[in-house]
Amino acid sequence: MSDIIQLLPDHVANQIAAGEVVQRPASVVKELLENAIDAGATNIKLLLKDAGKTLIQVIDDGKGMSATDARMCFERHATSKIRKAEDLFNLSTKGFRGEALASIAAIAHVELKTKEENQELGCAIKIEGSKIISQDFVSTGKGTSLAVKNLFYNIPARRNFLKSDTVETRHIVDEFQRVVLAHPNISFLLHHNNNEVYNLRSGNLRQRIVAVFGGKMNEKLVPINEVTDILTIEGFVAKPEFSKRKRGEQFFFVNDRFIKSSYLNHAVVNAFDGLLENGTHPSYFLYLKVPTNTIDINIHPTKTEIKFDNEKALYAMLRATVKHSLGQYNVAPVLDFNRDANLDTPYTYKSNTKVASVPKISVDPNFNPFKEENPPKQTKAVLPFKREKNTESWESLYTSSAAVIENEQEQLFEHKQEEKTQKTFQIQRKYVLSLIKSGVVLINQSLAHQRVLYEEFLESITIKEANSQQLLFPVKISFSSAEIEMIYTIKTELENAGFSFDEFTKASVTIKGIPVSVTESKITIILEELLNDINLEVPDASFSHFDVMAKSFAKTLSIKTGTLLSEKEQEGLVNDLFSCKEPSVSPFGKATFKTLTLNQIDNLFNS
Ligand code: ADP
Ligand code: MG
Repeated sequence: MSDIIQLLPDHVANQIAAGEVVQRPASVVKELLENAIDAGATNIKLLLKDAGKTLIQVIDDGKGMSATDARMCFERHATSKIRKAEDLFNLSTKGFRGEALASIAAIAHVELKTKEENQELGCAIKIEGSKIISQDFVSTGKGTSLAVKNLFYNIPARRNFLKSDTVETRHIVDEFQRVVLAHPNISFLLHHNNNEVYNLRSGNLRQRIVAVFGGKMNEKLVPINEVTDILTIEGFVAKPEFSKRKRGEQFFFVNDRFIKSSYLNHAVVNAFDGLLENGTHPSYFLYLKVPTNTIDINIHPTKTEIKFDNEKALYAMLRATVKHSLGQYNVAPVLDFNRDANLDTPYTYKSNTKVASVPKISVDPNFNPFKEENPPKQTKAVLPFKREKNTESWESLYTSSAAVIENEQEQLFEHKQEEKTQKTFQIQRKYVLSLIKSGVVLINQSLAHQRVLYEEFLESITIKEANSQQLLFPVKISFSSAEIEMIYTIKTELENAGFSFDEFTKASVTIKGIPVSVTESKITIILEELLNDINLEVPDASFSHFDVMAKSFAKTLSIKTGTLLSEKEQEGLVNDLFSCKEPSVSPFGKATFKTLTLNQIDNLFNS
C-alpha cells in the first residue's frame, strides 16, 4: 500500500483551528479587545455593522506593531506574550496562545493598520482566507486598527448558523461588558451601525458598573473588600432585595480576566443564605487577585475556565467575606457619599414591606347593568377589556355545588345553613380552595393570577387597544444605554400594552402613561424585569416580543404566595381563571389548579 498521510496545508489547519476560537462575532470581539488591552491601550473603540456579521473593528492607542510583526501576527502560534512553557504559569496578559489572529484571518477579510510610537509611518496589511493580499506603508496614528469583515465568508455552513442580529448583538454586548468591567481604567466606545451604544470613560470600579448598568445600579451595590495572604477580593454584591429571577449580572474576574465558575458562584450564593427570595439569584461583580502561579488558565480555548490550586480555601474565604459585608450592611448601611443614606433600609425590614399589593380582582359590587350610566372606570383595573366568557363547561362544574354541600351538612348536623354559603377558602395564603359539584378544586393563587394577567396582556397588546392611564407627573427612569436601545426597539409593543413615552435620552426614559393594571410604584420593576426576560430569552428579531412581554408582566404583577385574599377576591380570581382560554396552566407551563373528586377524597379514608 502507498503512503496516504499528508500534512494539512496551513490555511486549512488555520480554518480548523478557527472553529475552536471563533464561534461567532462575539468571539472575535473578545479576542480583539483583549489584544488591545495587552498592547497597553488607554482608549479602545469597537465599531460594529450588522451585529458584527459585516464588520467588527477595534481601534486602540496601544503600542502598535513593527512592519515585520504586523505580518508575523497572522501566523499560527505567533505570540509576543510567552516564550517558553514555564511562562504559562506566570501569565499577566490576556492572550498567550498566539492563534486568535491566525484563526480570524483564515475565515474573514481582515485589514490591519498599525504603527509604533517612534515610527514615522505605519503598516497596512490586507489578508483574506489566510492569504496576504497587500502590504503598504501608511500614515496612521500610534496604535492598531484591526477590521474584520464578512466573517465566515468562506465557510457558508458557519455563516448560515449565525443567529439573528438581536441574538448576535446580545452575545457581543455580553463579551463587551465582561471586558469593560475588568478594566475600568480604560475608556471604551461601542458603536453599532453608527449608533453610539456605550461611551465609557475611565474611572473607578463603581463608576464603571454604574455606567454599564445604569444609574439605578448605584444604590444597589454593597462593597466587598478583603486582603489576605493568598488572595484579595474586591468588588460589589447587589443587596439581596435586588436579586433577579434569572441569573444575569453575575461576574467573577480573576486577575482581571472574566471567568465562569459554578464553584465560586456557589460560595457567593451560600453567603446570601436566607436573604434571597426563593428562586432568585444575587447580582455580583467580584474581582479576585491571586498569585499567577496558583492558577491554570490553560484548560479552555476561550480561557473562561481556570483551575485554582487552593480551591477550597478560596471558597471559604469568598463566602466569609461576602457574608461579612452583607452583615455589616444589614447592621449599619455602608457610608457612601454618592447617595442619600436615609434611603437605606436594612433588607429584613425592607423585604417585609416588599410584599406585593393585591391587585383589585373583585368587581364593583354596586354595578347594576340596568342603571343608566356605565360603571366607574376603575373597575376595569384588572380587566382592561371584555373577554368572551368560555365558561360553559366550568359553569356546569359549579352549578348547585352549594346546594349539595348544604344538603350534606343539613343531614350531618341537622343545622340549617345561612342563606349565603362560603364557596372559596384560602389555604396558607397560597391556595384557594373552591367547591364544585363533584368535589373541590385547589387553585394556586399566584400561578392562576399569572394566567389571568397573561391572557389579558396578550389580548390588549395584540388587539392594539391601549388601556393607558396618564400619569399626573411623568416619571423619568434611568437606564443603561443598551437598555434604552432595547426599550426603543420594543416601543411600539409597549405602547400597545398601554405605556406612553415622552422623551428618550441616552441615559433615561420619561414615561407619561402606563397600562391601567400597573401601579406607578411598579413601573421600574416591571420594565427592568421585562428587559431582563427579553435578554435572557434572546428571541429572534423576527420573533415578536408580545409573548415575552405578556409573560413578564404577568409574572411581575401577579399576586404572590403570602398575600391574603378576601373572599370576594378569591371568588374574583376563580371566575377570572375559568374565563381564561387556557385556565389549567400558567404562562410558564405549570398547573394552575388540581381537582379532587369526592371519590378521591373518600379513597383517602378507605385506605
Ligand atoms: P496572542 O494574543 O495569544 O499572543 P494573537 O493572535 O491574538 O495571539 O496576537 C498575536 C500577536 O500579535 C500578539 O502576541 C501581539 O504581539 C500582536 N498583536 C495583536 N493585536 C495587537 C494590537 N492590537 N496591538 C499590538 N500588538 C498586537
Ligand atoms: Mg490575542
